[in-house]
Amino acid sequence: MQAVRITAPGQIEAVEIDAPRAGPGQVLLRVHACGVCRTDLHLLDGEVAIPTPPIVPGHQIVATIEEGDEAGLRVGVSWLAWACGECSYCRSGQESLCPRARFTGRDVDGGFAQYAVAERAFCLELPAAYGDLEIAPLLCGGLIGYRALRVAGDGERVGLYGFGAAAHIIAQVVRAQGRRVFAFTRDGDERTQEFARGLGAAWAGGSAERPPEELDCALVFAAAGELVPAALRAVRPGGSVVCAGIHMSDIPAFPYEILWGERILRSVANLTRRDGRELLELAARTPIRTAVTVYALADAATALNDLRAGRFDGAAVIDLAVERTEREGANRIPPR
Ligand SMILES: [Zn+2]
Ligand SMILES: [Zn+2]
Repeated sequence: MQAVRITAPGQIEAVEIDAPRAGPGQVLLRVHACGVCRTDLHLLDGEVAIPTPPIVPGHQIVATIEEGDEAGLRVGVSWLAWACGECSYCRSGQESLCPRARFTGRDVDGGFAQYAVAERAFCLELPAAYGDLEIAPLLCGGLIGYRALRVAGDGERVGLYGFGAAAHIIAQVVRAQGRRVFAFTRDGDERTQEFARGLGAAWAGGSAERPPEELDCALVFAAAGELVPAALRAVRPGGSVVCAGIHMSDIPAFPYEILWGERILRSVANLTRRDGRELLELAARTPIRTAVTVYALADAATALNDLRAGRFDGAAVIDLAVERTEREGANRIPPR
């Protein structure tokens, strides 16, 4: 099969390798589409370590089961490939923190390939109303963003720092919940600010700007540590700041007074299957439009470079059905 692998920090290659085989409790999947996440970029850059390279990255897999009783069933595979089910975290609904957890595209081969293998118990059911390309970004940006939103509380004014794949989905969830979105982009990035307003943001501006009102909570999706003090300054006393990324540059020292006032600063790590079920149920009831830029599998490295450079709005998705990436008109929102 065709696949793309990360072999060492900075090294990514398109290869022809044997298709994987499913073991006990696993299913062989024919991959239709796989989202491209900032974590894939962190893995490529060596900022998130790969325990046993080479690895096939990609943890937002939309696929059909290829063999057995359920052949033809469409499923999604997320970052959480497996958790032990026995440790204190797993037994208390926190499988996201399982010390033995394995992650798709880091510990086990992911979806930048024609075929993949997944634990059946960790496959997610996908709402039928969504196409393969449009559902893929929900499987990481959507899920981890949803977890971050859930732990941030139910305040009305929600700040989103970094308006990419996750934020453009979560903005729609926030709006559907009757709350307001305040979108923060790179300073001067008017294209993305316009994109945020188009998705219903009450306000959009640069991350160094103060919003017109105090926020009840802020979710930090961008990997820039300097956004943490900026977000703390923007939230009200008692408000929360949630860091949603797996990697972030160092957070600069900040005065205690911006944390004082019972502000809460925390991270979310990974996700649970419950997060997946909840978001996908919500998506089945409330249409979420994803802005998708499509790339061929052979152009996965280009997709990662474009993500690094901020060359598209929304999310990049590898479409296994296309042979080559069309540069013109590649950025499209699939009709629904
Ligand atoms: Zn466990
Ligand atoms: Zn991800």
